[in-house]
Amino acid sequence: MLSHPGKIRSNNEDTVAFALPNGPGGAFHGDALLLVADGMGGHAAGEVASRIAADVLYRHFFAAAGRPVHEILAECFHQANAEIFEAGRQNPEYAGMGTTCTAIAVRNNCAWLAHVGDSRAYLLRNDELQQISEDHTLVAELVRRGSLTREEAAASPERNVILKAMGTAATVAPAIWNDGMALQPDDRLLLCSDGLSDLVTDTVMQELIASHAPLDACRALINAALDAGGHDNVSVGVFHLTDRIEAEDAADTVVERPTRRTEDAPDIDDTVSDRPTRRADTATGIGGAS
Ligand code: CA
Repeated sequence: MLSHPGKIRSNNEDTVAFALPNGPGGAFHGDALLLVADGMGGHAAGEVASRIAADVLYRHFFAAAGRPVHEILAECFHQANAEIFEAGRQNPEYAGMGTTCTAIAVRNNCAWLAHVGDSRAYLLRNDELQQISEDHTLVAELVRRGSLTREEAAASPERNVILKAMGTAATVAPAIWNDGMALQPDDRLLLCSDGLSDLVTDTVMQELIASHAPLDACRALINAALDAGGHDNVSVGVFHLTDRIEAEDAADTVVERPTRRTEDAPDIDDTVSDRPTRRADTATGIGGAS
């Protein structure tokens, strides 16, 4: 995962994090958590919100290991929402702050998505890049209702108006998969903030992910966003499942396809992480999974 402030903004309100627990011999072992959060709010409040989201998710996810993944994710999102909302209530500088949050949990060869806002998750499988998160935006909702085409949505000046965020209200209604999506060898997962997806087409994303190792793909994707203007913070994570993950138990329901519950470059540096069991941004208070 990498995160870059972009070419216009001096601060970076995005937070990215991942934990890929290692077992003996470096084998992938246990639950994994990957996330991107894109904060919003004045006075650096966006950074605060996205970091709280990452911190709370990490803390709660691994503290609750072993229970059904969708339940853990739901608790994580509600707890993070509550903590961001409370921090905004107590500190006038942070009033109204919020964040997107797109998280993928992996257990026993399956992936679960939990999501709120307009950051995105994609799956690259068999040369096809598919967005697996639904944008919680006004234009995406209009597309779903058939009153706007995808092309019109992508060009709309209102494309960044989001309908849901974490931390802006006392409660949140995230989209969380009840059942895991079975992963296949050679699957690649992409997480990104809108600083990437606004500026780089799916076709270019797919080419860059398919032709690079994950960290190089992150660099190439960020450079593509910077070349396209880089007007926003840009965050990206690429995960390549090179082999089957050995299942440890069968406590969770697994399906072949995702099901959704909708309640409804230059200066890439300190944000780099190329080793597992380490988060990739500058937030504090998060260590490796154990
Ligand atoms: Ca953004």
